[in-house]
Amino acid sequence: MQQPFFKRSSVQLAACAATAAALVACGGSGDDLPPSRSAGLVYGTPTVAAAATGGSTVSVAVLTRDGMKTISTAPVSTEVATALQAQLAPGDLVDWIPGATADQAAAAPDPAQTFNVLMSKGSATAAQFDMSRYGVEVSRHEGAPGPMVAAGWVYGKTPGTITVGDGGLVKADMAGRAYDTPIKRYEETFQVARDVKVFAVDTSDYAKSAASDYASIPVTANYDYSTTSRQAAYLLFDRNHERADKAKVVAIWYFTPQSTSDGKPVWDVPTLSPLLADKGNDPVSGQPYVAINATGVTAAPYTRSTEPFEMVKDTLYFVGDNEVSSYILKADMGTPNDKSDDKIIKIDAGWANSGYQYWKNMELLGIDPRSVTDLWLTHGHGDHYGTVVEQLRMMDNVGKKLTLWGSKEDTTGIQSDLQGNSWNIAPALPASETEIRARTTEFYKFDQWYEFGNVRIMVIFSPGHTPGSTNMLFQVKNPVDGKFVTFGYHGGYGFNGMERPTATNGWRRLAWQHGFSYLQQKLEVDFVAPQHANHFPIVEVYQALKAYNRDPANANKQLTMLDALRSKVFDSPVVAGQSITSEFANQLEKRRSVVSYKATDNAARTRMSLETSGPFKPGRENGLVNVRATVLDDARIVQGFVGAQNKNPLIPLLADGMPTTLDPYTNDPNGYYVQVSIDVQDPLYKGYLPEGYTQFSPGMGTSITYQGGPIESTHAERGTYHPPEVLRTVRLASLQDAQKVLARIVKGGTYTISLTPASEIVVPADPAQTFQ
Ligand SMILES: [Zn+2]
Repeated sequence: MQQPFFKRSSVQLAACAATAAALVACGGSGDDLPPSRSAGLVYGTPTVAAAATGGSTVSVAVLTRDGMKTISTAPVSTEVATALQAQLAPGDLVDWIPGATADQAAAAPDPAQTFNVLMSKGSATAAQFDMSRYGVEVSRHEGAPGPMVAAGWVYGKTPGTITVGDGGLVKADMAGRAYDTPIKRYEETFQVARDVKVFAVDTSDYAKSAASDYASIPVTANYDYSTTSRQAAYLLFDRNHERADKAKVVAIWYFTPQSTSDGKPVWDVPTLSPLLADKGNDPVSGQPYVAINATGVTAAPYTRSTEPFEMVKDTLYFVGDNEVSSYILKADMGTPNDKSDDKIIKIDAGWANSGYQYWKNMELLGIDPRSVTDLWLTHGHGDHYGTVVEQLRMMDNVGKKLTLWGSKEDTTGIQSDLQGNSWNIAPALPASETEIRARTTEFYKFDQWYEFGNVRIMVIFSPGHTPGSTNMLFQVKNPVDGKFVTFGYHGGYGFNGMERPTATNGWRRLAWQHGFSYLQQKLEVDFVAPQHANHFPIVEVYQALKAYNRDPANANKQLTMLDALRSKVFDSPVVAGQSITSEFANQLEKRRSVVSYKATDNAARTRMSLETSGPFKPGRENGLVNVRATVLDDARIVQGFVGAQNKNPLIPLLADGMPTTLDPYTNDPNGYYVQVSIDVQDPLYKGYLPEGYTQFSPGMGTSITYQGGPIESTHAERGTYHPPEVLRTVRLASLQDAQKVLARIVKGGTYTISLTPASEIVVPADPAQTFQ
């Protein structure tokens, strides 16, 4: 599949026609190349020498467009020289400002940027891919974007062209209906300059790297996933992305020994998806396709690639992969007819190795990744900030501004909570992410709407998964009917590291549980915009929708994502004409039950729930008997987790819903709880776990001295004794019992209740007596 190289917008064409000066810049004669930095691949260890004129020079062996050179810098301070030496390693693709001769690097305005490292091959076996026009490029120089760089596996070669791509190949849709042409997730064919410089780079011993020629570049045998030996290459072009239509490849570094791929099949849907259950067995491994867990994304990013899709017409898009989400929101800023102030807001930035996929996905939707104006990060984990630096580089290269948003708590740590309590809790963002930290200029204000015209975003501080995790709500105006729909973006995928109470995670376990209940209780959400595609089946819903729409029988009844996504759980009970469980509340319930319930301990030996093991809110180690409490809302019935998510009989592949393999033990559609926002007259508990609080953990059989941290005090709302809690009853075995409890509660009423050590409201033999 050859992509058109360059789609010039009519605006640019008009600008080119406007003036004679512009004609020079827009001409295609080959003598209009802007000055640029040189680029090459390091194949030796750099050395530092004292310069005759003072200071030091750095020399490094590089495979360049001009041949095998030892490039020496102009004299720099010894400190800078040492830093440059440490920065450069064999296998690095680097750029520099050309000096007076082909083996000199000129002084850079910032000496530390005498060399910039663009990509690092090292000795890693991990696959590396880079689109030509997006992602990694040679650095900007003298006001012009640098020449393009690409990377991938070599899939084809003619005397004048070379084709590179990844390992994503899709032959049929999820209903098994074949595509006329298999979809290659990433593949580009480039023009090759007649005098292209070619190097065979030996990654097992870089010193053995040597000049080669175009005819000698091996080509990967075929696209079959069972073809595990693959030819990897880096490519350098003579032009930047603005002239991609004229660009030719002028240098190729191909790597020996060849790369290996994992030999496992690749699907559009998440690995282990129920949609693979009818796909039979893999002839290579003999295993059922549904049972094959794909190699992780850091080693083989293409295993998680999937196609992007529109969720709300012209406004909300999914551009992530089939494991982690990334969304685009197109905001008109309240001036729908004026494009000049529009914002392109990107939510989360995925895995570091997968940038090329996200840029490709955006391009497929007609969005230039360089048009992003704002990047919002939910929390400081590498599967969400992975491509931030690459995105920043891309923007730097074209001289555009990107505003980076994050939670202060995950960027600099928690110094205080919203009740004014002081803390000293380290952030999740690793110290090594200096650039992200330095360039995050906007910290979220919580619990309020950011208004962008047709798009509104609210951020809710929800520690647990990390100290600074956030949840987000997106309100998006549907241009079809002019009505706003609300999507809930729940932050934090894993329970990793919180399975059992430790000194450091205790407050996060309690805060995590609180966050789920708070979201269920306070927010009305129409649809789920999941943070991970294997927590809520957003990608499967799209693929099922696509298969439905491709069925010729449905040609006259095409559906959209808003038809395919369920707002309410299909099989949830209906009370007073309303289904009681939303898909969003249901997704939250799954995660909440993992941390909360004893069933967790029975289902997974590694897990110790709050019920059995705490921590318990201070002073409630033996529960509370007959305490007074004021009900602050209308209370609601919460159903136990319904395993089949987004069941939607409109679409055949969704007819039974999507049960995910994560946390199956929480499947409990016959359990019910009454949950309420409540002000408990408990002077011992302050809405947080105090620093250094020691408590016995029955499940662990030992006392734990906990680090402190905020729980309900993550919100500004005030109660009588502490910030209001969102509490729920112990499990009720029927909807009728839940209705009996609910019938006794009136907002504003003060009742006598009892609590278990885990702060669950005790239900007596007669459920109607729960709130007295
Ligand atoms: Zn995370």
